[in-house]
Amino acid sequence: MDGLPVPWITLVIAGQVWWGHLHGERRRLCQQDWLCQVCGLLLPDSAAVFVADGRIVSDTAVHRRCAALALTVCPVLSRPQRPMALATAESDDLLADGVPYRRGGHLGYAARWSLRPRDRDRR
Ligand SMILES: [Zn+2]
Repeated sequence: MDGLPVPWITLVIAGQVWWGHLHGERRRLCQQDWLCQVCGLLLPDSAAVFVADGRIVSDTAVHRRCAALALTVCPVLSRPQRPMALATAESDDLLADGVPYRRGGHLGYAARWSLRPRDRDRR
């Protein structure tokens, strides 16, 4: 759309792209089935999450190659007032609404994701 790739998770209504707005059901599916928010395909065990202000952005994960594309072309992710970082994440690294994330879990809604605090014995 307008020369930009439209992420799978971006809301599109009647052909109009709502940049910066997320498709709620697709976000939920990304969480439930460990799908990339950019391309909608299955993620490898080790993926990436966008982090800003210490929080996971959009509560979903991405392929590293999709993250690189998004950081290059996405006007929402490249806003200088809210710098983005990428963190490597496996499903065991995540909390969903404060409890350990479980792939394939059927919450019926999109949970708030956060990174588990790392202890000295991990990694
Ligand atoms: Zn992807």
